[in-house]
Amino acid sequence: MTLQSPKETDDEGDTRAFSIASPPGEESLTVATRMRDTAFKRTLASMAPGTPVTLAGGFGDLVLHEDSSRPAVLLTGGIGITPFRSIVLDAARRGLRRQISLFYSNRRPEDAAFLDELREFARTHPAFRLIATMTQMEQSERPWHGETGPIDWAMLVRHAAAAGSMIYYVAGPPRMVKGLQAMLRGAGIPPERVRAEEFDGY
Ligand SMILES: Cc1cc2nc3c(=O)[nH]c(=O)nc-3n(C[C@H](O)[C@H](O)[C@H](O)COP(=O)(O)OP(=O)(O)OC[C@H]3O[C@@H](n4cnc5c(N)ncnc54)[C@H](O)[C@@H]3O)c2cc1C
Repeated sequence: MTLQSPKETDDEGDTRAFSIASPPGEESLTVATRMRDTAFKRTLASMAPGTPVTLAGGFGDLVLHEDSSRPAVLLTGGIGITPFRSIVLDAARRGLRRQISLFYSNRRPEDAAFLDELREFARTHPAFRLIATMTQMEQSERPWHGETGPIDWAMLVRHAAAAGSMIYYVAGPPRMVKGLQAMLRGAGIPPERVRAEEFDGY
């Protein structure tokens, strides 16, 4: 996404890559971003609804595997949820019956984009499971009865996401993606069963 005539700019320029968070076929495209104090984000935050931007794409190949007998395990945290929201909503819309387990890590429920929507979605779609985990509940003011701590292999085992047929997907900031890939490698998952998308720039 490129901003047109932004009121300020910096060395990083006026273009950022964003994942499409909405499923194919919708009338509008949804992107979601972590707001930070950069020229691009300040401009984005101040733009009136309807301000034109330039879009190029889509790019990339993070799509679900064809073989629906093999469950998908999606691993992410923070803003890395965006491509998985699209994938999960699309799978449901197309009536796919494959099992999808989404492990979603955040510091606090307050920080977790799309959390309420995904919970509701899991309630109404038996093939989809959401395992949300919080890593800094001591800083939260909301009650939490789910998992706590980072996503690790023991958590995947506890939630039956460690079978030999499963395909793993990882998305998010590079450090998180590398950490989750290393966790899967350490558990003996071969690279051909792991697909990843790094959000370069974080
Ligand atoms: C395939 C792909 C998909 C992506 N999808 C998404 C998405 O769906 N949503 C999304 O938000 N982003 C996504 N990104 C990342 C996005 O393109 C930007 O890089 C990101 O949003 C950071 O932009 P920025 O303006 O906040 O920081 P920039 O101005 O681009 O930051 C420049 C540098 O400064 C550092 N920096 C800036 N501010 C801070 C801060 N407050 N604290 C610490 N370091 C800082 C950054 O780490 C970076 O090294 C994606 C990237 C890729 C490649």
